[in-house]
Amino acid sequence: MNPAAEPLILLVDDDAGLRLMLRTTLESAGFRVEEAGNCAAGLTAWERLQPDLLLLDVLMPDGDGYEVCRRVRNSTAGRNLPIVMVTGLDDTDSINRAFESGATDFITKPIHWAMVGHRLRYILRASQALTELKRSEARIDYLANRDAITGLANRNLLGDRLGVALAHNKRLHGRLAVLLIDLDRFKTINDSIGHGFGDKLLGIIAERIAACVRDEDTVSRLGGDEFAVLLPSIHGMSDVINLAERILARVAEACDIDGQLLRVSASIGISLFPDDGDSGDALLKNADAAMYLAKESGRNNYQFYTAELNTRALERLTLESRLRQAIEGGELELYYQPQISAASGTLSGVEALIRWRSPELGLVAPMRFIPLAEETGLILPIGEWTIRRTCRQIKDWQAAGLPAIRVAVNISAVQFQQRNFTKLLRQLLLEADIGGSNLELELTESMVMRDLDSVIATLHELKALGLNLAIDDFGTGYSSLNYLRRMPIDVLKIDQSFVRAMHIDPASLAIVEAIIALAKALELECIAEGVETEAELALLQNLRCEMVQGYYYARPMPAEEFQAWYLGRFGTG
Ligand code: C2E
Ligand code: MG
Ligand code: MG
Repeated sequence: MNPAAEPLILLVDDDAGLRLMLRTTLESAGFRVEEAGNCAAGLTAWERLQPDLLLLDVLMPDGDGYEVCRRVRNSTAGRNLPIVMVTGLDDTDSINRAFESGATDFITKPIHWAMVGHRLRYILRASQALTELKRSEARIDYLANRDAITGLANRNLLGDRLGVALAHNKRLHGRLAVLLIDLDRFKTINDSIGHGFGDKLLGIIAERIAACVRDEDTVSRLGGDEFAVLLPSIHGMSDVINLAERILARVAEACDIDGQLLRVSASIGISLFPDDGDSGDALLKNADAAMYLAKESGRNNYQFYTAELNTRALERLTLESRLRQAIEGGELELYYQPQISAASGTLSGVEALIRWRSPELGLVAPMRFIPLAEETGLILPIGEWTIRRTCRQIKDWQAAGLPAIRVAVNISAVQFQQRNFTKLLRQLLLEADIGGSNLELELTESMVMRDLDSVIATLHELKALGLNLAIDDFGTGYSSLNYLRRMPIDVLKIDQSFVRAMHIDPASLAIVEAIIALAKALELECIAEGVETEAELALLQNLRCEMVQGYYYARPMPAEEFQAWYLGRFGTG
């Protein structure tokens, strides 16, 4: 309704005299009035004028008012329009037909002229109140069931729809599928591009996923960067597989956000009814476990739920909560493995390797908990503990009269990308009161080969603290010589897989030779890892590899044991 003007009434009646009387009465009661003399003219006038109220005669020469009423009521614009029909007094049949056609109310002939204005004003007000109520109901419904950022169904609505679909499929012995879609590394993107951009990105991804599905499917945002798709009925697995592949492809297309091009990928977990659960909660939980499998399998792929995943998910969960306790409970330890000069047999450094001594699980190797720690962010406190512990150990050995020993610590990508990494190292060196040259950081190729300029800047900051920098597991990544040349690196560590295979596989031998030559050319030190036999040592000596590390000399051992090992071998001098 036009709020500024008086309400507009459209009067459709073939009786010109009655129209004149009504117009005069209603205008004096404060309404504006427009007239039409038959059904066809009435409909055209209604479309053109969009009145606030329609007053309709039931019988006209070119048709009846009920039909006009029905047509207006069934149109989008007329859905909430107050329509009042003028019927004969006591003509209950007409009154019934009026309501059946969708009329809001009726007035009877002969018209009670003193009352008609009041009556129409009352109907108008009641109908406005109703419209507002409907609007706020719709708004409440929207807020309760929709995600504010993407406009998709929220978890609540998904739960409802899943419940309905489950009941339906149970009755008809049908199948349904739930896809859980999680963006890969969204947190990093969100932190680096800002949350405003992050929200826009979520909006784009939401639209893309929604464009992949059918009308009867539900796309929902569960929170964060997690989406779900409900396929309420599926015929074959190919329905699901095609959809998962379509979504992966669409999500992976570049996103243009305010002129900035961004690429993300997604990992998808899929569960099916009745195969993987018969409640909404079970299906969502199992899709989630499958999604984690997709992440573990290298991201940007989809996985179906399998029963053994459940046990693994449970293990993960207990492992994670135990690991949290381990940090506070002092269950972490460092072992130290010597690095020996291949030519002279003297000690050139040690590598600190983390162990978790769990009361329930025993001694846990890093490969079992470091990946989980990296995924959950626990690697930050663990990594900080490792560096702090290493610095103290360096100080303790100095105090015990050992010569300065260079100790290497392994650094995870997450740690390295942490904003104040250099600052943290400076602080930890200060705390332990040691010089940076006693500490070496082991980085991996994949970590330093991305975002080159900022990596090189960080490496220079670390060098400025006097630290040594090593590339661990060298040869397994995709290092480019050009990149390597630009980086202030001190050491290359040849990955143990090459050392292991060197005697039987000519390609591995060639790689070992090439890395040694590369290190020489770039004037870097070179350490061969995983040296277990005398034959391996002899070959590496032949190839002029500078340093070796491996079980042949010593396994990683606790600090006191290392000290005893050192004194036994080299004495105090
Ligand atoms: P890495 O840095 O490449 O460490 C070498 C691994 O090879 C160690 O396994 C070591 O015990 C093992 N090793 C050494 N000599 C030999 C040998 O002669 N033969 C064989 N078969 N293995 C040998 P570990 O201690 O289980 O550590 C595994 C990986 O876990 C490390 O690989 C490193 O990537 C990671 N890691 C260990 N400690 C930490 C830590 O404090 N922080 C982080 N972020 N990662 C760590
Ligand atoms: Mg290492
Ligand atoms: Mg290594």
